[in-house]
Amino acid sequence: MSTNKDDSLLNAKDIYDITKFTHLDYPGKLACIIWFSGCNMRCEYCYNSEIVFSKEGYYSYINVLSFLRTRIHLLDAVVLSGGEASSYNLVKFCKKIKELGFLIKLDTNGTNHKTLKELIELELLDYVALDYKAPKEKFTQITLSKKYDEFSQTLNLLIQSGIDYEVRTTIHNDLLNEQDINTIIDDLLQRGHTKAYYLQEFLDTGSSIANLKAPLHSFDRSLLSNDLEILWR
Ligand code: SF4
Repeated sequence: MSTNKDDSLLNAKDIYDITKFTHLDYPGKLACIIWFSGCNMRCEYCYNSEIVFSKEGYYSYINVLSFLRTRIHLLDAVVLSGGEASSYNLVKFCKKIKELGFLIKLDTNGTNHKTLKELIELELLDYVALDYKAPKEKFTQITLSKKYDEFSQTLNLLIQSGIDYEVRTTIHNDLLNEQDINTIIDDLLQRGHTKAYYLQEFLDTGSSIANLKAPLHSFDRSLLSNDLEILWR
């Protein structure tokens, strides 16, 4: 039975949108995506600017839970994305999603280390997709945030926790070059990451935060280190 305080938390309209079905976002699972409003970064290549700059969403947690009740046995999992979902207190929401029988994946930039730690310790997450935005030297330039150290703590947490996770980087060739990616690969190896490393190219939707255009520089994949398995998306 919920208390009044619980209900007010669950009534907050923190969710910008719901994608009701995807088979692309959670490896091997049918899922929906819950898009949280707002983000603590301003990545130059981000094409979700409407979500990033939104102060409030259109759906409450209660709205989402009502939707999920209609998807029991139809979907396997719920993807928490955004924006930056981990900017919110997700414990109660995740507990309720778990009670409905869904797996939970979190997409994150890793800058809310304490939130991630709590969710992992409570066994409320089944999969985490962590963005490795850039090497330390370029992190602030690309994300307009000074949160590399928090990200770094989260990366170590994922590697050491035993949770199923992936690390991924979006490449705009004018922002990140082959050497930058090799620097990230070296860093991942030093930390003990041995899984595949996912790379994806900048998607030119014409509406990125920094209004980026298609890159002027080419990207030579043959110059990348072979020390980790690289998977392109
Ligand atoms: S790409 Fe960057 S700005 Fe956009 S939602 Fe992700 S972390 Fe936030």
